Amino acid sequence: MPVVFVDTEDRVEETPSAAETNDDEVWLDDGSVTLVAQGIGFRVYKGILAKQSSVLTDLFGKAQEGRTGQEDLVVHLPDSSRDWRHVLRVCMSHNVTLRLRDATPMQTPSAEEVFAYVRLGRKYKIEAIYEQAMEYLKSYFNPDYNHFYQQDIWTPPRFRYVDAIGVVNIARLTSDEPLRLMALLVCCLTDSTELLTGIAYSDGEVETLSPEDLALCWVARPKLSTARLRSILRIVTPLLASPCASRKEGFGCRDAAQCIMGELHTNATFLEPGNPFMGFNGSEIEELLVTLCERCRASTAARHSKQHRAAWNDLPALMGMPCPEWKMVDIDG
Ligand SMILES: [Zn+2]
Repeated sequence: MPVVFVDTEDRVEETPSAAETNDDEVWLDDGSVTLVAQGIGFRVYKGILAKQSSVLTDLFGKAQEGRTGQEDLVVHLPDSSRDWRHVLRVCMSHNVTLRLRDATPMQTPSAEEVFAYVRLGRKYKIEAIYEQAMEYLKSYFNPDYNHFYQQDIWTPPRFRYVDAIGVVNIARLTSDEPLRLMALLVCCLTDSTELLTGIAYSDGEVETLSPEDLALCWVARPKLSTARLRSILRIVTPLLASPCASRKEGFGCRDAAQCIMGELHTNATFLEPGNPFMGFNGSEIEELLVTLCERCRASTAARHSKQHRAAWNDLPALMGMPCPEWKMVDIDG
């Protein structure tokens, strides 16, 4: 039965039990401690873990108290065994690298791995892992306009838009409101029904948005679409009055503008729910804009930039989420 949860700190293991099974992967025969999570035992080297986590050092010390003889040191942890497998895999490797940089897209970590690094890294103060993973998330869900505008993709290579659910919950966990706002924006761009039902991890556990965050997305989605359409119209409609000749012979800027309006009617991409920051890249509209005279092209580009900047400043209001830390930009660039 899947368990719905928001963050790992909610978990409480009431009656610790012995390991029912040894993990197939993280089990070192000559290990010095067995960590047990959800009935799965991980046999690892105590010294290596203690070096990386002050919290585990304390737990090992407590487990050691009053212990006599040669029995195995066993420490029960009230967390997901899936999360611990991901974290221990990294902690037990020779160098703590999360494959976040200098990796091909398929070598980068999955959302499930990154979330495990953040949750357990934070809770057990495994700083090398926690800091790298947070920096990685923030480099994509980045609340800096210039960075955001320059990036080609909005999520790490192996994330889907709906995986932003986990980022929203991490932002709540770390009280990072700009990060939550960016992640909620990405949640609004998915048409996956998992936004409502939650994302399922490899062990069947499901993570959902909190009812409050789901309600924000529900209200924001149509507002974002309206904002996008309004911004496109503000960019294009002044061209309809252009008296000038375009660079294409016998085809005025006004004619190009009419074709663009036609494209807006027929191209479903521009009518779908979504992103107020979407440009015209790769569309018929981009090709039509190239045919404009130099003056119209410059004025269109200026309106485009202004609309994007205005939408950025409006984002907290559009998402219905006041965010005093939000960094506004100068509308005129
Ligand atoms: Zn013109």
